[in-house]
Amino acid sequence: MERTLSIIKPEAVARGLIGDIVSRFEHAGLKVVAARLTRLDKQRAEAFYEVHRERPFFNSLTDYMSTGPIFVSVLEGDGAIARNREIMGATDPAKAEAGTIRKDWGTNVEANAVHGSDASETAAAEIAFFFNADEIQSSGS
Ligand code: ATP
Ligand code: MG
Repeated sequence: MERTLSIIKPEAVARGLIGDIVSRFEHAGLKVVAARLTRLDKQRAEAFYEVHRERPFFNSLTDYMSTGPIFVSVLEGDGAIARNREIMGATDPAKAEAGTIRKDWGTNVEANAVHGSDASETAAAEIAFFFNADEIQSSGS
């Protein structure tokens, strides 16, 4: 069993897509073991995306991610990190495969509907960024 962090980004939350997107996760065999609607201020968005600080889109991305509520969740399942990235699709919705979340609901490369952790170390760090251990349900229960 593996865990990954998912974020439904501000434009997708504003468009009322939480249910549709979570449904994709569940249909793909990923179990929601923690979830919350929250909001990042600019400083916390910068902390979350610290690895991208030198990228040209850093300022715009962290502005965008602090424009409104986001839906954060922990998804659990076999190969959850790769499975989630598969169903999210390519970073740029225009290049994402048919049937992926970003293809269906992403607005552009920045407002691309969802974020998903990319490796086990980043998943652990990103989960701890949003959730205490006691807020995560063990899947057996
Ligand atoms: P994520 O980390 O959000 O799951 P990813 O791993 O597919 O997506 P990264 O390269 O880690 O993509 O970029 C992180 C986020 O930065 C992207 O989800 C997107 O919102 C934004 N981003 C990436 N490339 C660009 C770009 N060229 N222009 C604007 N924003 C970008
Ligand atoms: Mg990434």
